[in-house]
Amino acid sequence: METTDIEQLRKHAAQLEKDIAHLVRHDQLTGLMNRSAFVSDVDRIISATDYSQTKGAMIEIGIRGIPRISGSLGRHVADYVISALAARLNRMREPETLCCRLDYWSFAIFIPKINDPLEALTTAKSFIETLNKPVDWVDRHLKVELGAGVALTTEGQKDALELLENVSLALKSATEKNGPGYSFFNPALAQISKRKSDVMQALHDPSDKQLFKLHYQPFFNAKSGDLVGFEALMRMDHTELGSISPAEFIPVAEESGDITRLGAWALAEACREAANWPNHLIVAVNISPEQFYSGTLLTDVHNALELSSFPAYRLELEITESTMLKDSEMVMSQLNALRDMGCAIVLDDFGTGYSSLSYMWKFPFSKLKIDRSFILALDDTHLVRGMLRSIIDLSRNLGLKITAEGIEKPEHVALLREYSCDYLQGYLTGRPASATDIAAIILKNYASQLREQPYPAVADPKFRSNKQST
Ligand code: C2E
Ligand code: MG
Ligand code: MG
Repeated sequence: METTDIEQLRKHAAQLEKDIAHLVRHDQLTGLMNRSAFVSDVDRIISATDYSQTKGAMIEIGIRGIPRISGSLGRHVADYVISALAARLNRMREPETLCCRLDYWSFAIFIPKINDPLEALTTAKSFIETLNKPVDWVDRHLKVELGAGVALTTEGQKDALELLENVSLALKSATEKNGPGYSFFNPALAQISKRKSDVMQALHDPSDKQLFKLHYQPFFNAKSGDLVGFEALMRMDHTELGSISPAEFIPVAEESGDITRLGAWALAEACREAANWPNHLIVAVNISPEQFYSGTLLTDVHNALELSSFPAYRLELEITESTMLKDSEMVMSQLNALRDMGCAIVLDDFGTGYSSLSYMWKFPFSKLKIDRSFILALDDTHLVRGMLRSIIDLSRNLGLKITAEGIEKPEHVALLREYSCDYLQGYLTGRPASATDIAAIILKNYASQLREQPYPAVADPKFRSNKQST
């Protein structure tokens, strides 16, 4: 072989080696550094820097809207948008700043030295502003939404992975709140996340560690004061975490998918319990949006009624507006089927979400529950009173009944009676209580009804059995 050929081969091998080294360290789509190269470079900088004297900043930029673009225009267009954003990011970074493609729709940036936290925030903001400009594709301007999480190095900074965990929590918090789109990491976020994963774990613990039960809160006819029924409210007790509020564990169960199982249990348990009550009393069960999407809700309701021989007309299903936001056609068809079975559908927490008037007439509701926050605001301004009166009038015209929840003061009772609200529920009239404890409420109410109506038509056998059990 000629010396020139050997030279050529050597050059070729060196080039190949370079190409392989580049491939190993870079993301093929965007040409940015990949996650593992980024992590090892940041680790190297961290171990060579005294972060008690100076600070570095990690930023994670999350690109929302990519699944939308991918779903409507195809994965190749989504890829094109991501590469265009990566190119912008690469152009605007300082030479010492490291950038990588962290996963399909997020980038990470590490600035080894910053002057103060404000500089980190300003840098994150300017990245977002530049990346936020639409990406031109054929004759369209494609828009994405961006969020950023920012975390600073600390004295004794462990490694890049710790910083990446922190920015990811900060990004999540930025995405959840309707703020400026970026958020700083603070240790409370880590605590919240830890608590959430503890609760998620607890949902799966064996039954000797956690216990689910239902409590029942009474609601009354506003005019006559008669007991109308009870809302079933789930409770969770855990040997290590103690008693956990549904406001905390229900959203976690919704996220983990456990709500389908728990919701089916709540339906069955509430119907089983309510079958022991006098037969004019109603039981209301809260239903999460995920139960509609799971596809088992109709069967769960049917089974709950069948197993306890409980009549559907005594079962109310409470849903919130968020249920109708996603795939409203599919939700509507299930609501119609549930109504056809004989159940009443209640719109819960009215006044907290969009309070869209169209929901009130498009969906088969028979009752609307005005949220506690609305009742609390009654004391503040006359405007709220006017709004409340209008909501009650409007609902009446649409043939809907109204419950006011969160009644804590006698003056609220007087006002709501004056406005012809149908039902009242709140701590003033009765706190949620165990199935055993509500027997006393049922008895008391029945006794006062007997006093007012000396000749009740029929003595209810179910009521007698309830009486015996207390
Ligand atoms: P919700 O359905 O709006 O239930 C009313 C909540 O307000 C209950 O809180 C009740 O205890 C509370 N409450 C009632 N009257 C008053 C009052 O006068 N003052 C105050 N401060 N609070 C009052 P709870 O039991 O903590 O439940 C919170 C939420 O958790 C419920 O709101 C419901 O959205 C959800 N939830 C509870 N049980 C279930 C369930 O079995 N399934 C589903 N999907 N969600 C449930
Ligand atoms: Mg409710
Ligand atoms: Mg409510």
